[in-house]
Amino acid sequence: MTTAILYVVSTPIGNLEDLSPRAVDTLKKVDLIAAEDTRHSGRLMQHFSISTPMLAVHDHNERQRAQALVQKLAAGQSIALISDAGTPLISDPGYHLVSAVRDAGYRVVPIVGPCALIAGLSVSGLSTDRFSFYGFLPAKSSGRRQHLALLAKVTHTQVFYESPHRIVAMVDDIVSVIGPDRQLVLARELTKTFETVYGAPASKVQAWLSADHNQQKGEFVVLIEGAEPEQLQDIGPEEERMLTLLLAELPIKKAAAITAAITGHKKKALYDRALELQGK
Ligand code: SAM
Repeated sequence: MTTAILYVVSTPIGNLEDLSPRAVDTLKKVDLIAAEDTRHSGRLMQHFSISTPMLAVHDHNERQRAQALVQKLAAGQSIALISDAGTPLISDPGYHLVSAVRDAGYRVVPIVGPCALIAGLSVSGLSTDRFSFYGFLPAKSSGRRQHLALLAKVTHTQVFYESPHRIVAMVDDIVSVIGPDRQLVLARELTKTFETVYGAPASKVQAWLSADHNQQKGEFVVLIEGAEPEQLQDIGPEEERMLTLLLAELPIKKAAAITAAITGHKKKALYDRALELQGK
């Protein structure tokens, strides 16, 4: 094993068989495993007979531990970073450590594997050309609604994590803020026994969820289809007449701006039409 490297190792999000042979090999060979919760990860280590020493690195001590870990790399040790599940840093600790290690000039190597966000997206049936990931929205409904309101017109797929305590409230907020007809997908308990992926218009998902208590349990990835792009309104004969009259008296820019202010059409579209009218 090459020394002075920080390995960022993805671990299973449910099914232990998803720990890759390369991940097992890395976790066995490094000098130290920096784990979000050493007791939680202890079970994984036991299952794979990994006896490498572990050190707790979590949200509350990460900044402080980062410098000590950089010192270990400086001494030629290699370290693996893991979180409780999935890919470290993705709604999990690790950002401060990785940036400190990179700033100090040491290599950071990904040992790729499970990530609930990508797993959920890949089976959602929603467009994946472009998507945004927002992690967990605020726990309080008012904050969550404010965030959702900002996203209502986003035209690409939006992905969130949500806990079982808030899944019903989150879906309620999506229905009222984003709208009952928008396609919504809940990807629950991925890779586990009760894995369920349910997609439908938001109001149908809401009814389905409230009808079955069992579906409210476990871990969730929530995916919202992007909004339809806003259709550009056609510039009709009335708007064109107004534009022509104003063009006889004013420069193009002004004529387009006044027509836009009166009709609500986009200034740019009216400007382009004015150029056409003038044969430019
Ligand atoms: N780092 C992890 C990853 O790569 O997916 C995510 C950690 S975050 C603290 C935990 C959240 O991820 C859960 O609350 C849930 O929203 C989502 N999650 C984790 N495992 C999941 C699973 N098996 N099925 C669905 N969602 C899961």
